[in-house]
Amino acid sequence: MFRQARWNERMIFELGRSGRRGCTIPKVKKEIQRVVGDTKAFLPEKLRRKTLPRLPELSEVEVVRHYVRLSQMNFGVDSGFYPLGSCTMKYNPKIDEVLAKLPSITLIHPYQDERTVQGILEIMYRLSRWLAEITGTHEVSLQPAAGAHGEFLGTLIMRAYHKLNDELGKRTELIVPDSAHGTNPASGAMGGFKVVVVPSDEDGCVDLEALRAAVSERTAGLMLTNPNTLGIFEKNIEEIAKIVHEAGGLLYYDGANLNAILGKVRPGDMGFDIVHMNIHKTFGTPHGGGGPGAGPIGVSEELEKFLPVPRIVSDGKQYRLDYGKPHSVGRIRGFYGNVGVLLKAFAYILSLGAEGLEEVAEVSVLNANYVMKKLEKIRGFELPYAQGRLRKHECVISAKKLYKETGVRAFNVSKRILDYGMHAPTIYFPLIVDEALMIEPTESFEKEELDRFVEVMRKISDEAYSTPDFVLEAPKNAAVTRLDEVKASHPKNMALSWKMYLKRSRR
Ligand SMILES: *Cc1c(COP(=O)(O)O)cnc(C)c1O
Repeated sequence: MFRQARWNERMIFELGRSGRRGCTIPKVKKEIQRVVGDTKAFLPEKLRRKTLPRLPELSEVEVVRHYVRLSQMNFGVDSGFYPLGSCTMKYNPKIDEVLAKLPSITLIHPYQDERTVQGILEIMYRLSRWLAEITGTHEVSLQPAAGAHGEFLGTLIMRAYHKLNDELGKRTELIVPDSAHGTNPASGAMGGFKVVVVPSDEDGCVDLEALRAAVSERTAGLMLTNPNTLGIFEKNIEEIAKIVHEAGGLLYYDGANLNAILGKVRPGDMGFDIVHMNIHKTFGTPHGGGGPGAGPIGVSEELEKFLPVPRIVSDGKQYRLDYGKPHSVGRIRGFYGNVGVLLKAFAYILSLGAEGLEEVAEVSVLNANYVMKKLEKIRGFELPYAQGRLRKHECVISAKKLYKETGVRAFNVSKRILDYGMHAPTIYFPLIVDEALMIEPTESFEKEELDRFVEVMRKISDEAYSTPDFVLEAPKNAAVTRLDEVKASHPKNMALSWKMYLKRSRR
């Protein structure tokens, strides 16, 4: 079983000692100085620092030990089971990292002349064509830096579309089901729409009657997470599309969790006008802790003209950046997007091929349903909504019964999972499930690991019924044990830099 190390590691600023160095930079030789003159003269006087920056001063080996120790206190997909629902924490093949680190990639600069970066432009262009094919859309923009950024861009495109039709004044509402991802209503509001929430039926799908009642001439569009946050594929997807289109609204598909439907069905074929995908979930690039991502969006032929600039275009021989799009919503990000992340996705798709992507979908669905079937039988856990139906990428289990009977909540279960050397699932989401544990095993874990997880959940259930107080105190074996959750999440207590930390601790 994986155990996090427990180092009493101090901040890097507290290590080392003044004057210590990790490397020595050779002095500029007299002869060179004679040729180039005083090196100080390269920097204009007013740009030169008057005092040295206060950086940590350490030897190389101190730095290496510090970060190795920190890594031993950490947990990642490469260490073990990581079922963080909706986040698709899949294994990231090392070949993708190798390619993204090639000097021919890392040493190029977005300000270089287009003619000197034809290679990366071609990669981006080809990736956008593949993503259009995968989603069944006409054109793809790679620019958004995250899923939520793609959603925001989607709302801008909806605005541009209705504005061109002279209807923006009256189309002020965006419909969002209550089983949507939390970013959906937030993006709708950011885009300036009034968010209208429609409830789910007992199958965990959009309630069609409620949807019919919600659409009107005020409807700008619908934003749908599919499969939804319960892991359920909307059974009336074509009917939903029809209802919204007939009311004059646009259809937005939150495809952040495309993993389960890769190569099986395409949002474009379901009638959707705009779709975003989360590159950093579905296409295997490492993420977490707010790390770099990409949330490209694909649109129908009719909406293509609104995509942000610059667009990468090709005449078959040369690739170039096209800014000449009068209907474009403009720029939404610097340069061409998160190129490193996109490159890894390119490598991921290239190495798996079409059959490989389809297999990803099949195994991820198999894994989610395997775990679901085992967990729903464990004492204290229940499967809410649509008992007989298959889930897609994830399943949501409720610990409501466990809480009622033992006082142990989903929160405590997730903390206890850490003690067993696994990452916790997403908890308390979706909001329509009490004491929710949202579990997404992805395709990356073998049957033995899934069985180990089920066994851990069974043990925790036993512990909750026999020694609940013990579970309430978890985690005991993790690198960091019980945190003060309230204190930890209050911005007043956050120190985002060493300087800020010193200032705060002096107060
Ligand atoms: C993760 C996720 C998002 C948001 O993506 P970010 O890259 O975190 O902004 C949106 N919708 C769904 C369904 C998601 O799972």
